[in-house]
Amino acid sequence: MTLLWLLLPALASVAFARSADRIVASDPRRSVWRLAVGGVVVAIATMTSAAIAAWVLVAQIPLVASLGGWDVGRVQGSADVPVVASIVGLVVLVVAGARLLVASSRAVREWRVVVDLHRSLQPGPRIVDASVDAGAAVAVPALPGHPGRIVLDRALLGALEPAERTAVIAHEAEHLDARHAQASTVVALSVAVNPLLCSLVRIHALAVERAADEQAAERTDRRTTARAVARAALYASTAQRLVLGIGSSVTATRVEALLAEPTGGRRRSTLLLILPLLAVVGALVAGARMELVFEALMHVAGAR
Ligand SMILES: [Zn+2]
Repeated sequence: MTLLWLLLPALASVAFARSADRIVASDPRRSVWRLAVGGVVVAIATMTSAAIAAWVLVAQIPLVASLGGWDVGRVQGSADVPVVASIVGLVVLVVAGARLLVASSRAVREWRVVVDLHRSLQPGPRIVDASVDAGAAVAVPALPGHPGRIVLDRALLGALEPAERTAVIAHEAEHLDARHAQASTVVALSVAVNPLLCSLVRIHALAVERAADEQAAERTDRRTTARAVARAALYASTAQRLVLGIGSSVTATRVEALLAEPTGGRRRSTLLLILPLLAVVGALVAGARMELVFEALMHVAGAR
């Protein structure tokens, strides 16, 4: 029975990643941070479960058992967790730790690029009209002492009509205002810890673009924004660069979503809150059951 509770966070992770696609399609703006926060919660709950399963193995090390004051021979039988599950838990923890280190250093490198971008920009207005190498339209996230900036390529601006320019600027402003770069870092770290969430990187990348597109559509209209997205993508493919933060592979999805009627997805995006909650419940119940087991083991050993 404990095993079922231990497996609940992993099952919730799979369901979370599987439902994310449809939720982003129906409710992109709300899903950006719900995916990020839900992903962290699900990842922490899954690692807690792995640690609880691994603990059954660790608790059978004679030194640990003597320090804890329980009988090594009784641990496996009382814990109600198969040895294979404990081994898997241990392996998962080690792999997750290594992956988190790699992902953290990658995140540090990415944010150093942001620091360098801020250093290269003169203090001034939020929107910088310049010729840029990093992309034709770049939202440079805010850092302490440095407000967020929008850097736009003159050549791209020249290729757009005034309403389309407004859409591009509104799109980039939404990236800054809703802290999309920070949410993406959170997602990358969660996926590193919990590979069951691996599809989340792609889905979240689409979510931030769709969320920014929706804001741009609110400032202008859906057709103008769709045209701006398509034109910017065309400009990017000619210029061999990224525009609006994403390559052309998702451009069709974004344009299609803008040309379709927006769908109400409030009920679906609630799943992104319910599934992490289920994962937490699984880890908490498994932890509580394991605590009871070890209290009993210590009690038996103390009574003898
Ligand atoms: Zn973008």
